[in-house]
Amino acid sequence: MSRAMPRDAFHESVSHYFNRAASYSKVDEGLIDQVRCCNSAYRMRFPVRKDDGKITVVEAFRAEHSHHRQPTKGGIRFSPHVTMDETIALAALMTYKCAIVGVPFGGAKGAVCIDPSTSSEGFRERVTRRYTAELIRKNFIGPDIDVPAPDYGTGEREMGWIADTYKNMRMNSGDAYACVTGKPLSMHGIPGRRQATGLGVFYGIRACMENAQDMRALGLAPGVAGKRVIVQGLGNVGYHAAWYLQKEGGALITGIIEREGGIFNADGLDVEEVFRHRQAGRTLLNYPGAENVEGGMALLERECEILVPAALENQITAENAPRVQAKIIAEAANGPVDFEAESILRQRGVLMLPDILMNAGGVTVSYFEWLKNRAGVSFDRMISRHEELVKRELIAAIEGMTGLDMPVEKLPRLVHGPSEEELVVAALEQSMVRAYQRVWKCWKERDLPDLRTAAFLLGLELVAESYRHHGIFP
Ligand code: GLU
Repeated sequence: MSRAMPRDAFHESVSHYFNRAASYSKVDEGLIDQVRCCNSAYRMRFPVRKDDGKITVVEAFRAEHSHHRQPTKGGIRFSPHVTMDETIALAALMTYKCAIVGVPFGGAKGAVCIDPSTSSEGFRERVTRRYTAELIRKNFIGPDIDVPAPDYGTGEREMGWIADTYKNMRMNSGDAYACVTGKPLSMHGIPGRRQATGLGVFYGIRACMENAQDMRALGLAPGVAGKRVIVQGLGNVGYHAAWYLQKEGGALITGIIEREGGIFNADGLDVEEVFRHRQAGRTLLNYPGAENVEGGMALLERECEILVPAALENQITAENAPRVQAKIIAEAANGPVDFEAESILRQRGVLMLPDILMNAGGVTVSYFEWLKNRAGVSFDRMISRHEELVKRELIAAIEGMTGLDMPVEKLPRLVHGPSEEELVVAALEQSMVRAYQRVWKCWKERDLPDLRTAAFLLGLELVAESYRHHGIFP
């Protein structure tokens, strides 16, 4: 897989998309500037002891893009290639993403310049805790201020360290665990967060493919079932997106791309088995029955119906866009298609499902986790048993009226009260489907060039609307 884009190119893409959307809006120019700009950004350098006892200086960032609502929200990535510029652009995407799915937060993003794949767990823990302490010192973290989450190169473990550091340094804060989301379940995380982004991608693709007219325009039958899918990235997002596309949607995952190369099988790959194969052998390559594709990037150009880039930004550029054969590109990663590639693909009739819509499932479930932490109670606790009792009563009433008995084997499934995970997944599905329909309606009703312009325009207008009522001091 190619590494992240050259400095500034990604920011340029995001600005381009925003400015194009802004040209369709009637929002006051000054207010557009406010919605575009990054409100505050903090660049830090701090010393951390390496495993050999020597000191190294680590560079890190946190950007709070928009304070129109607080807290601000967004992941933290660990990568040796991150820059302040990239962090700011990613924070901007978070602002528009939250607005589109109705998450009442501003956007933020954090980044730490370390390579998680070559550093020890001890080093990563020291870095994470020190980074958290730096954020606390500058008031860049807190349940009402700014709430980080996982992103590229980080996961539950890092979020656990952040929560623990925050809790210990802010000893009297009752809802300290709401300072970060994506935590392990044992540290007040929420079931469903791990798969949320990938599952949201699946719901987004499914919502899109249910529209028979849009599919006809692409020469496709409606529905996900039987469609050929190539996925780039088998990390948390790519894995879960592929898993649900295959297991729930009935799609054929024909290609998977990772850093070390790609694998292809026209008859379909089993995502779960490929994942286990990669874990065991530390490489995707040489999967039984699949063709190895050196470097992997050529797989982006193979024939398929749906391409799911779920790795890094700027993977599809003017260089490879003319050769991409997919009919639909579902952007699970942030910014995988740059603006030059975008115009080439649009001219070629490819339907692009934009990142700020498609990968918004992660922050949606982060919002549920934050709510749960603030309330101090899990979502099922107060309703589950009550729902079961109501359903039992209903069934007894129906049995009484009809004289028929409900088959005993059907009873548990029908009457069981929802688990917290079931509630989370159902609410995620509803958020994604509604967001898709809202963006789609904006695209059609306002005769915009594409879904991305509609998503950015909707994000811009929702943020501007909330600035009109709060956030501007006389
Ligand atoms: N890093 C994820 C994103 O880019 C999740 C952010 C969050 O949950 O706050 O959307």
